[in-house]
Amino acid sequence: MPIATRAFAATAADQPLSPYSFERRDPGPDDVAIAIKYCGVCHSDLHVVHNDLGGTRYPIVPGHEIAGVVTAVGANVTRFKEGDRVGVGCMVDSCRTCASCQAGEEQYCVPGMTQTYGSPDPKGAEVGQTITQGGYSDRITVDQAYVLSIPDSLPLDAAAPLLCAGITTYSPLRHWKVGPGSKVAVVGLGGLGHMAVKLAVAMGAEVSVLSTSDRKKADAERMGAKHFLINSDKDAMKAAAEKFDLIINTVSATHEIASHLNLLARDGTMVMLGLTTEGLPVFALPLLMRRRSVAGSLIGGIRETQEMLDFCAEHGIVCDIETIAPHQINEAYARMEKSDVRYRFVIDMAQIDQAA
Ligand code: NAP
Ligand code: ZN
Ligand code: ZN
Repeated sequence: MPIATRAFAATAADQPLSPYSFERRDPGPDDVAIAIKYCGVCHSDLHVVHNDLGGTRYPIVPGHEIAGVVTAVGANVTRFKEGDRVGVGCMVDSCRTCASCQAGEEQYCVPGMTQTYGSPDPKGAEVGQTITQGGYSDRITVDQAYVLSIPDSLPLDAAAPLLCAGITTYSPLRHWKVGPGSKVAVVGLGGLGHMAVKLAVAMGAEVSVLSTSDRKKADAERMGAKHFLINSDKDAMKAAAEKFDLIINTVSATHEIASHLNLLARDGTMVMLGLTTEGLPVFALPLLMRRRSVAGSLIGGIRETQEMLDFCAEHGIVCDIETIAPHQINEAYARMEKSDVRYRFVIDMAQIDQAA
């Protein structure tokens, strides 16, 4: 029996999200059926809804920071059972055979991962779905290999955004070997940025935040940041020259990055996480003078996502959230556009009934 699912969907780039009903597939032998309790609101959802990257197929149900409870499992499922607290992030499948998949870096799958929403859905045919639909919905069916276990000590609402904001910042911090003694700067204190601060602090780094105003200074310090700079303050930027080993850049819009490169020490790296579509001019001189790099990073693999959840449980790290009802999603989007979020909106799916 297909699973009746209530959701919020965008029907066009310039339309507000509205209530939407569709069906999920009944769990196959390897599937886990999940009742979604909470779903975080990532800035990538806005990019896709607004078709910033091109190729959005409507209607689209966004959402890839999913936390819920297992309602049923298929015959081959051994890792999960009814009642387990689980999460689903940005991908629900990948080829499983390419070098990236074999290395546990499924996000870099060569033929391409199946994203939680907006990807062709080879498993959706039985319920008439041609593309995957995400977590602004009350039910989802996912292959067990792409389901994460949420440790008991993490509340489901504040853990939901770990499934994207958490892993997207954890992965580069690990890849660039952040630890005690590292000096890390985080540009943009939004959903990703605030997780980058908390995670880097827990790894032992000295963390600084670069923000567009001083509105979030007290919050940054509460999260453990030692220094706070406004990136339009030329004197402060000059004083911070060559101070950082790693800059985690989470800015969601086109912005000037040349001045930020001078903040890197010798061999330092600035990792771009924001999905900006316009070119960002990078000049050779600041790079070659100190052997600096500009890099990018995409979410993280399934194994690393579980590692991140366990790390957060061990260190008592969760997201700072503002819970909303599903019908408040358009208001939340408007506030995210203005960087007015502290620090992640999370949709409480129990309130989906109020949508009708
Ligand atoms: P968010 O919560 O909206 O935060 C973005 C922050 O960027 C804002 O809080 C603001 O920080 C800063 N900002 C926004 N516009 C700016 C501008 N014009 N100039 C300078 N700073 C600006 O967004 P998010 O959910 O953290 O996502 C951030 C970006 O990462 C998005 O582009 C998203 O699509 C992308 N993303 C990428 C991955 C990946 O795998 N690489 C995964 C998830 C998300 P201040 O208020 O501190 O200035
Ligand atoms: Zn995301
Ligand atoms: Zn692959």
